[in-house]
Amino acid sequence: SIKLSNRVQAVKPSPTLAITARAAQMRAAGKDIIGLGAGEPDFDTPDHIKAAAVKAIENGQTKYTAVDGIASLKKAIIAKYKNDNGLDYQPNQVLVSCGGKQSSFNLTQALLNAGDEVIIPAPFWVSYPDMVLLADGVPVIIETTQAQHFKITPEQLRAAITDKTRLIFINSPSNPSGVAYNLEELKALGDVLKDFPNIIIATDDMYEHILWKKGTFVNILNAHPELYDRTVVMNGVSKAYSMTGWRIGYAAGPADLIEAMTTIQSQSTSNPTSISQHAAEAALTGDQSFIDDMCVEFKKRHDYVVSELNSIDGVECLETDGTFYVFPNVEKLIARLDNIDDDLGFSEYLIEQAGVALVPGSAFGTPGHIRISIATSMANLQNALERIKKAI
Ligand code: PLP
Repeated sequence: SIKLSNRVQAVKPSPTLAITARAAQMRAAGKDIIGLGAGEPDFDTPDHIKAAAVKAIENGQTKYTAVDGIASLKKAIIAKYKNDNGLDYQPNQVLVSCGGKQSSFNLTQALLNAGDEVIIPAPFWVSYPDMVLLADGVPVIIETTQAQHFKITPEQLRAAITDKTRLIFINSPSNPSGVAYNLEELKALGDVLKDFPNIIIATDDMYEHILWKKGTFVNILNAHPELYDRTVVMNGVSKAYSMTGWRIGYAAGPADLIEAMTTIQSQSTSNPTSISQHAAEAALTGDQSFIDDMCVEFKKRHDYVVSELNSIDGVECLETDGTFYVFPNVEKLIARLDNIDDDLGFSEYLIEQAGVALVPGSAFGTPGHIRISIATSMANLQNALERIKKAI
């Protein structure tokens, strides 16, 4: 067999993508599997966005673009940051990438040296720790509990910081917990970070728009404008406009850091797809009503799923603030099931015995929980919950 790099041996494939692939395989083999693992909205991309892509193709906008994105999209992104977030950026502070995932990848590659520590609150988006490892960094995980609504406290943050801390990821609303930090909580975290000028802050706002209470979204720069010179604000069109396959994310931050991230991107993918950039521009500048319609539907499903889960003996599930995930604690349920030791075994049991595919909390650094995606039809959710109840 081929001897692979130490680098690739230090990381694992994305567990959420692996579950989706496994469910697809079992389905192809004739098994009846309901997938609750999806990390993407189950709605079609809106027509006016598709039309912009078609137009881009017809207009011959099918060639390389500037690595950091076309000027008109960057302008739309700058307007979005201004209007939605009250943040001011110049074009040289914005980088468009192949999905939000590449924004984080560029950042870790551009910033980290071997041994640099990166603070990652758990439960975390599965890719943060592995991206840090790929950049020879050291993930420092802060654990949280359901009792603290999966939010880190200022005390926990301070205790995790060392001389080597270089970066912290804040993801709110959070995949997988669905909770969002409020302004006071972000103020308290910023009060700690203020004391450590070497730490760069990455706020991953990917789920900004999938929030039940409209107009309540805040990030750390809203709480602490003085952190502007060392904060990277990451967002994208994947989740808000149901555009996961188009692969467009973007980041804004200090010009020198964005320039370094652009250099990394210029030696990996070059520009994100030209056609998708035109589609993303249409998404950001066009009719926004799609987002509200989608949120209404997610909220209905959320209410149903949370109440059903809480009716199961041994399951405790928080109401979320947004996203399309719920993250119940199943420790007591596991304790009363014979032959099941942990969330990994429980998830395995559910896919084999109930035909329901979901992701164990361990994948997100928080064992004893499971992540259920509600980005599927109400009928599927009802069917899945019936099957789960029967299986346990
Ligand atoms: N950030 C978070 C928290 C996510 O959950 C995801 C997708 O699952 C991303 C970033 C990346 O999104 P994409 O690369 O599809 O734009």
